[in-house]
Amino acid sequence: MRIVLVALVVGVAASVVANMATTVYLHRALAHRALMLRAPAAHAFRFVIWVSTGIRPRQWVAVHRKHHAFTDVEGDPHSPVLHGWVKVQMLNVAMYRKEAKNPRTVERYARDLPPTILDRLFYDHALVGLGVGVASLVLLFGWQVGLLAAFVHVNMYLGGSAAVNAIGHHFGRRPYDNNAGNLQWLAFVTAGEGLHNNHHAKPTSAKLAHRWFEVDPGWGLIKSLTWLRLAKLRVMTGATNASAQRVGEQLPVDEVVEERVDVAGPGIAVVDVVGVLPDIACEHGVRAVLQRQIGVPR
Ligand SMILES: [Zn+2]
Ligand SMILES: [Zn+2]
Repeated sequence: MRIVLVALVVGVAASVVANMATTVYLHRALAHRALMLRAPAAHAFRFVIWVSTGIRPRQWVAVHRKHHAFTDVEGDPHSPVLHGWVKVQMLNVAMYRKEAKNPRTVERYARDLPPTILDRLFYDHALVGLGVGVASLVLLFGWQVGLLAAFVHVNMYLGGSAAVNAIGHHFGRRPYDNNAGNLQWLAFVTAGEGLHNNHHAKPTSAKLAHRWFEVDPGWGLIKSLTWLRLAKLRVMTGATNASAQRVGEQLPVDEVVEERVDVAGPGIAVVDVVGVLPDIACEHGVRAVLQRQIGVPR
Protein backbone atom coordinates (compact mmCIF):
# COMPACT_ATOMS: atom_id res chain seq x y z
CA MET A 1 0.00 0.00 0.00
CA ARG A 2 2.79 2.39 0.92
CA ILE A 3 4.49 1.64 -2.41
CA VAL A 4 1.31 2.56 -4.31
CA LEU A 5 0.87 5.81 -2.38
CA VAL A 6 4.49 6.89 -2.88
CA ALA A 7 4.31 5.96 -6.58
CA LEU A 8 1.12 8.02 -6.93
CA VAL A 9 2.77 11.08 -5.37
CA VAL A 10 5.95 10.69 -7.46
CA GLY A 11 3.99 10.03 -10.67
CA VAL A 12 1.75 13.06 -10.17
CA ALA A 13 4.82 15.21 -9.40
CA ALA A 14 6.53 14.02 -12.61
CA SER A 15 3.37 14.85 -14.54
CA VAL A 16 3.18 18.35 -13.03
CA VAL A 17 6.79 19.00 -14.10
CA ALA A 18 6.13 17.67 -17.63
CA ASN A 19 2.95 19.73 -17.97
CA MET A 20 4.71 22.89 -16.80
CA ALA A 21 7.49 22.33 -19.38
CA THR A 22 4.92 21.61 -22.08
CA THR A 23 2.83 24.72 -21.55
CA VAL A 24 5.63 27.20 -20.79
CA TYR A 25 8.33 25.91 -23.16
CA LEU A 26 6.69 23.98 -26.02
CA HIS A 27 3.47 25.94 -26.19
CA ARG A 28 3.89 29.51 -25.01
CA ALA A 29 7.60 30.07 -25.73
CA LEU A 30 8.26 27.99 -28.87
CA ALA A 31 4.92 27.66 -30.65
CA HIS A 32 3.53 31.15 -29.97
CA ARG A 33 6.67 33.09 -28.98
CA ALA A 34 4.74 34.73 -26.15
CA LEU A 35 7.94 34.81 -24.10
CA MET A 36 11.65 34.43 -24.68
CA LEU A 37 13.65 32.06 -22.49
CA ARG A 38 17.30 32.62 -21.69
CA ALA A 39 19.66 29.76 -22.55
CA PRO A 40 19.85 28.09 -19.10
CA ALA A 41 16.06 27.94 -18.80
CA ALA A 42 15.58 26.82 -22.42
CA HIS A 43 18.14 24.02 -21.99
CA ALA A 44 16.59 22.90 -18.71
CA PHE A 45 13.12 22.76 -20.29
CA ARG A 46 14.49 20.96 -23.34
CA PHE A 47 16.01 18.30 -21.11
CA VAL A 48 12.86 17.92 -19.01
CA ILE A 49 10.72 17.48 -22.14
CA TRP A 50 13.13 14.83 -23.46
CA VAL A 51 13.19 12.67 -20.32
CA SER A 52 9.54 13.15 -19.33
CA THR A 53 7.79 12.98 -22.72
CA GLY A 54 10.25 12.14 -25.52
CA ILE A 55 8.54 14.84 -27.61
CA ARG A 56 10.53 16.54 -30.39
CA PRO A 57 9.74 20.25 -29.98
CA ARG A 58 9.71 21.10 -33.70
CA GLN A 59 7.13 18.36 -34.31
CA TRP A 60 4.96 19.46 -31.39
CA VAL A 61 5.17 23.10 -32.48
CA ALA A 62 4.31 22.25 -36.10
CA VAL A 63 1.28 20.12 -35.18
CA HIS A 64 0.08 22.79 -32.76
CA ARG A 65 0.47 25.70 -35.18
CA LYS A 66 -1.45 23.69 -37.77
CA HIS A 67 -4.20 23.20 -35.16
CA HIS A 68 -4.44 26.98 -34.82
CA ALA A 69 -4.37 27.48 -38.58
CA PHE A 70 -7.23 25.01 -39.17
CA THR A 71 -9.07 25.01 -35.84
CA ASP A 72 -12.05 22.64 -36.04
CA VAL A 73 -12.11 22.60 -39.85
CA GLU A 74 -10.65 20.14 -42.37
CA GLY A 75 -6.89 20.06 -41.77
CA ASP A 76 -7.08 20.29 -37.96
CA PRO A 77 -4.90 17.40 -36.71
CA HIS A 78 -7.23 16.65 -33.76
CA SER A 79 -10.67 18.22 -33.92
CA PRO A 80 -13.66 16.92 -31.93
CA VAL A 81 -15.93 18.77 -34.36
CA LEU A 82 -14.65 16.50 -37.14
CA HIS A 83 -14.22 13.26 -35.17
CA GLY A 84 -16.22 13.59 -31.94
CA TRP A 85 -14.64 14.34 -28.58
CA VAL A 86 -14.53 10.73 -27.36
CA LYS A 87 -12.51 9.62 -30.37
CA VAL A 88 -10.06 12.52 -30.01
CA GLN A 89 -9.74 11.78 -26.28
CA MET A 90 -8.91 8.12 -26.99
CA LEU A 91 -6.83 8.56 -30.15
CA ASN A 92 -5.13 11.91 -29.53
CA VAL A 93 -1.68 10.29 -29.37
CA ALA A 94 -2.19 8.47 -32.68
CA MET A 95 -3.55 11.64 -34.31
CA TYR A 96 -0.58 13.61 -33.04
CA ARG A 97 1.94 11.04 -34.23
CA LYS A 98 0.39 10.83 -37.68
CA GLU A 99 0.68 14.60 -38.18
CA ALA A 100 4.09 14.87 -36.48
CA LYS A 101 5.54 12.30 -38.86
CA ASN A 102 4.41 14.28 -41.89
CA PRO A 103 7.61 16.04 -43.02
CA ARG A 104 5.58 18.64 -44.95
CA THR A 105 3.83 19.73 -41.74
CA VAL A 106 7.13 20.17 -39.89
CA GLU A 107 8.76 21.91 -42.85
CA ARG A 108 5.88 24.33 -43.25
CA TYR A 109 5.00 25.11 -39.65
CA ALA A 110 8.26 24.84 -37.73
CA ARG A 111 10.89 26.19 -40.06
CA ASP A 112 12.16 28.41 -37.26
CA LEU A 113 13.21 25.29 -35.31
CA PRO A 114 15.71 23.36 -37.43
CA PRO A 115 17.40 20.38 -35.74
CA THR A 116 20.49 21.32 -33.72
CA ILE A 117 23.56 19.21 -33.05
CA LEU A 118 22.13 18.34 -29.60
CA ASP A 119 18.93 17.18 -31.29
CA ARG A 120 20.83 14.85 -33.59
CA LEU A 121 23.00 13.48 -30.80
CA PHE A 122 20.40 13.15 -28.03
CA TYR A 123 17.03 14.82 -28.18
CA ASP A 124 15.74 13.27 -31.41
CA HIS A 125 16.08 9.85 -29.78
CA ALA A 126 12.84 9.77 -27.85
CA LEU A 127 13.27 6.27 -26.43
CA VAL A 128 16.69 7.15 -25.02
CA GLY A 129 15.18 10.18 -23.26
CA LEU A 130 12.30 8.20 -21.84
CA GLY A 131 14.76 5.48 -20.79
CA VAL A 132 16.83 8.07 -18.91
CA GLY A 133 13.63 9.33 -17.26
CA VAL A 134 12.39 5.92 -16.13
CA ALA A 135 15.89 4.83 -15.03
CA SER A 136 16.18 7.98 -12.90
CA LEU A 137 12.88 7.18 -11.16
CA VAL A 138 14.00 3.58 -10.55
CA LEU A 139 17.40 4.69 -9.20
CA LEU A 140 15.83 7.28 -6.90
CA PHE A 141 12.84 5.30 -5.62
CA GLY A 142 13.49 1.61 -6.33
CA TRP A 143 12.10 -0.42 -9.21
CA GLN A 144 8.57 -0.92 -7.87
CA VAL A 145 7.85 2.72 -7.05
CA GLY A 146 9.86 3.91 -10.09
CA LEU A 147 7.97 1.81 -12.66
CA LEU A 148 4.57 2.45 -11.08
CA ALA A 149 5.27 6.21 -10.91
CA ALA A 150 6.25 6.19 -14.60
CA PHE A 151 2.95 4.43 -15.38
CA VAL A 152 0.98 7.04 -13.40
CA HIS A 153 2.84 9.89 -15.10
CA VAL A 154 2.35 8.55 -18.65
CA ASN A 155 -1.40 8.13 -18.15
CA MET A 156 -1.86 11.48 -16.45
CA TYR A 157 0.21 13.37 -19.01
CA LEU A 158 -1.31 11.77 -22.10
CA GLY A 159 -4.82 11.94 -20.64
CA GLY A 160 -4.44 15.63 -19.80
CA SER A 161 -2.98 16.54 -23.21
CA ALA A 162 -5.76 14.64 -24.97
CA ALA A 163 -8.37 16.34 -22.77
CA VAL A 164 -7.23 19.81 -23.87
CA ASN A 165 -7.79 18.85 -27.52
CA ALA A 166 -10.95 16.79 -26.96
CA ILE A 167 -12.87 17.92 -23.86
CA GLY A 168 -11.39 21.43 -24.15
CA HIS A 169 -12.85 21.78 -27.65
CA HIS A 170 -16.28 20.50 -26.67
CA PHE A 171 -17.12 21.48 -23.08
CA GLY A 172 -16.46 24.53 -20.95
CA ARG A 173 -17.27 28.22 -20.63
CA ARG A 174 -16.90 30.30 -23.79
CA PRO A 175 -16.48 33.97 -22.93
CA TYR A 176 -14.87 34.50 -26.34
CA ASP A 177 -16.46 33.50 -29.61
CA ASN A 178 -14.52 30.36 -30.54
CA ASN A 179 -14.99 26.57 -30.39
CA ALA A 180 -12.71 25.98 -27.38
CA GLY A 181 -13.90 26.04 -23.77
CA ASN A 182 -12.47 27.18 -20.42
CA LEU A 183 -12.34 24.40 -17.80
CA GLN A 184 -10.64 25.35 -14.55
CA TRP A 185 -10.26 21.74 -13.34
CA LEU A 186 -8.45 20.90 -16.58
CA ALA A 187 -6.29 23.99 -16.17
CA PHE A 188 -5.14 22.61 -12.79
CA VAL A 189 -4.28 19.24 -14.39
CA THR A 190 -2.46 20.80 -17.37
CA ALA A 191 -0.70 23.82 -15.81
CA GLY A 192 -3.14 26.29 -17.36
CA GLU A 193 -3.93 24.75 -20.74
CA GLY A 194 -7.54 24.09 -19.72
CA LEU A 195 -8.28 27.81 -20.18
CA HIS A 196 -8.42 26.95 -23.83
CA ASN A 197 -11.15 29.38 -24.91
CA ASN A 198 -8.98 32.24 -23.64
CA HIS A 199 -6.00 30.79 -25.48
CA HIS A 200 -7.75 30.53 -28.85
CA ALA A 201 -8.99 34.09 -28.43
CA LYS A 202 -5.52 35.48 -27.67
CA PRO A 203 -2.94 32.91 -28.75
CA THR A 204 0.11 35.14 -28.27
CA SER A 205 -0.70 36.01 -24.67
CA ALA A 206 1.76 34.46 -22.21
CA LYS A 207 -1.00 34.47 -19.58
CA LEU A 208 -3.94 32.15 -20.10
CA ALA A 209 -6.05 33.44 -17.19
CA HIS A 210 -7.93 36.52 -18.38
CA ARG A 211 -10.32 37.05 -15.46
CA TRP A 212 -9.76 37.47 -11.73
CA PHE A 213 -11.30 34.08 -10.86
CA GLU A 214 -9.25 32.07 -13.36
CA VAL A 215 -6.06 30.33 -12.22
CA ASP A 216 -3.19 29.64 -14.63
CA PRO A 217 -0.41 27.70 -12.84
CA GLY A 218 1.93 28.07 -15.83
CA TRP A 219 1.75 31.84 -15.47
CA GLY A 220 3.10 31.50 -11.92
CA LEU A 221 6.17 29.75 -13.27
CA ILE A 222 6.60 32.37 -16.02
CA LYS A 223 6.43 35.19 -13.45
CA SER A 224 9.08 33.45 -11.34
CA LEU A 225 11.31 33.04 -14.41
CA THR A 226 10.95 36.73 -15.28
CA TRP A 227 11.89 37.70 -11.71
CA LEU A 228 14.98 35.49 -12.04
CA ARG A 229 15.69 37.16 -15.40
CA LEU A 230 15.46 33.79 -17.11
CA ALA A 231 12.48 34.80 -19.24
CA LYS A 232 11.23 37.91 -20.98
CA LEU A 233 7.63 38.52 -22.00
CA ARG A 234 7.08 39.50 -25.60
CA VAL A 235 3.58 40.88 -25.74
CA MET A 236 0.41 40.70 -23.71
CA THR A 237 -2.70 41.02 -25.78
CA GLY A 238 -4.81 38.81 -23.55
CA ALA A 239 -6.00 41.70 -21.47
CA THR A 240 -9.62 41.93 -20.57
CA ASN A 241 -9.07 43.59 -17.22
CA ALA A 242 -6.47 45.87 -15.73
CA SER A 243 -4.59 43.16 -13.85
CA ALA A 244 -3.97 41.19 -17.02
CA GLN A 245 -2.88 44.18 -19.05
CA ARG A 246 0.58 44.68 -20.39
CA VAL A 247 2.78 43.00 -17.86
CA GLY A 248 6.55 43.12 -17.97
CA GLU A 249 8.89 44.14 -20.70
CA GLN A 250 7.32 44.84 -24.05
CA LEU A 251 8.37 45.47 -27.59
CA PRO A 252 6.49 47.87 -29.88
CA VAL A 253 3.80 45.98 -31.75
CA ASP A 254 5.28 46.64 -35.19
CA GLU A 255 8.60 45.23 -34.04
CA VAL A 256 6.93 42.10 -32.66
CA VAL A 257 4.99 41.57 -35.86
CA GLU A 258 8.04 42.05 -38.06
CA GLU A 259 10.06 39.69 -35.91
CA ARG A 260 7.35 37.07 -36.03
CA VAL A 261 7.10 37.38 -39.78
CA ASP A 262 10.83 36.73 -39.92
CA VAL A 263 10.26 33.67 -37.75
CA ALA A 264 7.59 32.35 -40.06
CA GLY A 265 9.67 32.97 -43.14
CA PRO A 266 8.85 34.71 -46.41
CA GLY A 267 6.04 33.36 -48.49
CA ILE A 268 4.14 31.92 -45.55
CA ALA A 269 0.59 33.21 -45.53
CA VAL A 270 -0.63 34.80 -42.33
CA VAL A 271 -3.10 31.96 -41.79
CA ASP A 272 -0.15 29.59 -41.43
CA VAL A 273 1.14 31.43 -38.43
CA VAL A 274 -2.21 32.00 -36.80
CA GLY A 275 -1.51 32.20 -33.14
CA VAL A 276 1.72 33.94 -33.89
CA LEU A 277 0.29 36.92 -35.68
CA PRO A 278 -3.34 37.72 -36.36
CA ASP A 279 -4.63 38.68 -32.94
CA ILE A 280 -1.97 41.33 -32.71
CA ALA A 281 -2.52 42.35 -36.29
CA CYS A 282 -6.24 42.81 -35.89
CA GLU A 283 -6.14 44.51 -32.53
CA HIS A 284 -3.53 47.03 -33.45
CA GLY A 285 -4.40 47.66 -37.07
CA VAL A 286 -0.99 46.73 -38.35
CA ARG A 287 -2.11 44.88 -41.44
CA ALA A 288 -0.06 47.38 -43.43
CA VAL A 289 3.08 45.92 -41.83
CA LEU A 290 1.99 42.41 -42.72
CA GLN A 291 1.10 43.50 -46.20
CA ARG A 292 4.55 44.95 -46.71
CA GLN A 293 6.26 41.92 -45.28
CA ILE A 294 4.41 38.93 -46.66
CA GLY A 295 1.74 40.16 -49.00
CA VAL A 296 -1.29 39.62 -46.75
CA PRO A 297 -4.36 41.16 -48.41
CA ARG A 298 -5.38 44.46 -46.85
ZN1 LIG B 1 -7.21 24.18 -29.43
ZN1 LIG C 1 -1.70 27.37 -28.94
